[in-house]
Amino acid sequence: MTRSDSGRRHPRRLLIAKGIFNTEEGPFNYRIFKDKRVKRKFNYSWQHGRGLVLTVPWTTKLSAAQKSILNNQKWIVSCLKKQNRIADLPNVPQLKNEGHLLYHGKKYLIKIAEPDVSVSAIQIENDSVVLPRSLDKNANIESTLVNWMKIKAHAEFPPIIKQISKTLSIPVKKISIRDQRTRWASWSIAHHSISINWRLIMAPPDVLQYVIIHELLHSIHPNHSKDFWQLVKIHCKHWESSRHWLGCNTKLLIVLR
Ligand SMILES: [Zn+2]
Repeated sequence: MTRSDSGRRHPRRLLIAKGIFNTEEGPFNYRIFKDKRVKRKFNYSWQHGRGLVLTVPWTTKLSAAQKSILNNQKWIVSCLKKQNRIADLPNVPQLKNEGHLLYHGKKYLIKIAEPDVSVSAIQIENDSVVLPRSLDKNANIESTLVNWMKIKAHAEFPPIIKQISKTLSIPVKKISIRDQRTRWASWSIAHHSISINWRLIMAPPDVLQYVIIHELLHSIHPNHSKDFWQLVKIHCKHWESSRHWLGCNTKLLIVLR
């Protein structure tokens, strides 16, 4: 989860085209980048929910890149199918009416308030999260709940980080709550700053605590050496179960936007 900052002054990568292609499995978004560091002719990757990324060498013609996409339909369709399967997995939050939300590691049923009940803001009631009736469209429900979780993360994370920083006697100069899609958190040794993913609001509190302890301890060992893990074990008794939870839930990093 660690990475020290490495800012680049000169862009070596440029977006040259984006759009939508259609396949038998449905439409997908694509983006084509040219990159000075790339030697291989066509470099494909698939980003869940965001579609295809094709990176080509700096001198490649756009028409050649677009033709290559058309020639790779089979692979693209397999990515789309996989993406659709992940979206249907039972543990992935389904942010729609009668779907479910994960908050502090617990599943909540999503409900729209009854007509005779006035609910002006999102409320947690027992095992349900109740939404105002004005949010009756699924598209609104998803974006509203994602925003709600982000607001919760901004409110809840800093005091917890400060508390752990105090306990470990490791100062934290800056806290950033981010929308990273490849990592749960990171620590910058140079700036003594922590970046933490709002998606951890979905995790049990123990897991959040473990992630923070893990990152802060990177200020002592900026690696994953034996000494580092020794220190993690001393300061976090539940490190193993927390690590397991994170490993089982990496799909939470990619499903919500
Ligand atoms: Zn780490």
